[in-house]
Amino acid sequence: MRAVRPRRAIRALRWGGAALLVGSLGVVAAPAKARFCAGSAAGVDAPAAALRSPGEAELAALVEATPRCSPARRCVGIHVFVAADAAGMVVDAAWLAGQVTEAQLRFAPIEVSFEVRAASALRPEEGAVVSRRDRDRLGAGRYDEALIQVFVAGSLANVDEPGEIRGVHWRDREDRSRRWIILSKIAGRLVLTHELGHYFGLPHSSLPASVMNKTEGIERPLDERVFHARELKKMRGRLKASLGGLRLRSVTAEG
Ligand SMILES: [Zn+2]
Repeated sequence: MRAVRPRRAIRALRWGGAALLVGSLGVVAAPAKARFCAGSAAGVDAPAAALRSPGEAELAALVEATPRCSPARRCVGIHVFVAADAAGMVVDAAWLAGQVTEAQLRFAPIEVSFEVRAASALRPEEGAVVSRRDRDRLGAGRYDEALIQVFVAGSLANVDEPGEIRGVHWRDREDRSRRWIILSKIAGRLVLTHELGHYFGLPHSSLPASVMNKTEGIERPLDERVFHARELKKMRGRLKASLGGLRLRSVTAEG
């Protein structure tokens, strides 16, 4: 399915003089009760036969409505793939813009920014991501190491126990250097930020103020959490080490 790429978004992904390529990270396991990687069980999407794919105009509007990279920051491009049901795309531009805005704010201390460079539609049968194989298949033929692929599903099952999760940083089981992010439409505004934290090397955290801490009901509300200074330092260090050559590769993580 052809990606919609506005003319201004075709430029190469550059961090200073270096093209950004992404490396390998771990799979994020999701405990049962959490708002970031895991969530409560939800309903089943409409049958595939009732689904429709967003048109190019809708996809272009999705790109246009999301914020551009903040100036003077290293800009990381995102290619978003959105599922649709009978009512249209499972999320709207405001939802996606909220996710990107939160990521921009929380990565600003290390001068990293994000923007949606391209938008595509998932096939109707891909809207419900149930199995590990489903997660692998999302990236098949779509993985591009110059951009971060973010798949937005109608539902995203927990593959370890019954229930759904809100997001996951997934590593292709056949080629673990290939990885992408999968979000569910039920994801709160900070889920993309949390998964990008995994993408750039962070594991989960027990620090109460950390966006990498998935625990609810502690002193800092989930929506107010940020990267801890130690987490920022870790991501900065990994990125700096990876920028020694022309391309950023093989950023690793425990998460
Ligand atoms: Zn996580």
